Amino acid sequence: MGYLAKMRARSSVLVECDLCGSRGPFFILATGGSSNDAFLEQIGVREKPRTVLCKACGWIFKPLVFSADQLDQLYTAVGGGNTYSDVDRIHVAAKAERLFLHIGRFLVNRIPLLPVLDIGGGVGQASLGFANNGYEVDVSDIVSGSLLHPRMHAHKGQIDSIPSSSQYGVVILSHVLEHVWNPKKVLTRAYELLAPGGAIYVEVPFELVTPMLLRKTGDIAHVGYFARRTLELFLDYAGFSNVAISLSLESYGSRKVVVFKALGRKDNMSHKREIRTLPLHVGWLHLIYDLLSVQQIALTVSSKLK
Ligand SMILES: [Zn+2]
Repeated sequence: MGYLAKMRARSSVLVECDLCGSRGPFFILATGGSSNDAFLEQIGVREKPRTVLCKACGWIFKPLVFSADQLDQLYTAVGGGNTYSDVDRIHVAAKAERLFLHIGRFLVNRIPLLPVLDIGGGVGQASLGFANNGYEVDVSDIVSGSLLHPRMHAHKGQIDSIPSSSQYGVVILSHVLEHVWNPKKVLTRAYELLAPGGAIYVEVPFELVTPMLLRKTGDIAHVGYFARRTLELFLDYAGFSNVAISLSLESYGSRKVVVFKALGRKDNMSHKREIRTLPLHVGWLHLIYDLLSVQQIALTVSSKLK
């Protein structure tokens, strides 16, 4: 491998908080030391993974950015959620139908008659309800699998590769944002791709316990840790209005996961919103409120009972 190729293949380190732009110093919550380190070394990551907290806004992230090459190897190893068994089928369809109704209610039953975009959508698990109800669905993902419905169309690649001329009525980001280093850029792009009057749906796991209480770097593929307030600020910054966030306990097969579900609207006024600046005194204490949330306690109790 030539010198330039080596440079390109190397990981880099974020020096700025993606949410508020603070340049730190960041508080280190967790440092490597897990069984994942050996795998990282195998794909050419030399630095120890770390999870840090931005004290200015409470955004928790892993500053070490993998190169495109390393990401390819990582997602080949962990899989992209594109495996799907017949046992799951009924469960997935029922859940997708609930999501379709949930977004419909949020838009007061005025879902624009436009295609739906399912970003990082795997085989279309989250958007299946829309396809079943007559909507065309574009599923974009870096890995492709056999899509669940004939009204679904695959777009191999990331959100940047979707043509700007496309207009969607609904954009879905289900279990995607925790994998990206730049949620702000992804959400801003999603906003641009939405038609006025359309809605975004974001689902991310609630994982503050891993970096804050267990002090572990956790899932190798997760690089951002959302709290209610930081998720709200990210959506607000991208231009969304009527942002509504809830915390709930979800089942994935036998696994129970606490998740944040967020909805936001793109207003009918199609003028470009001015760049938002964040309030200065967000701080990080709002994280404590999330950690004490009832659902989290419920999960802890139920896992003890097993
Ligand atoms: Zn920050």
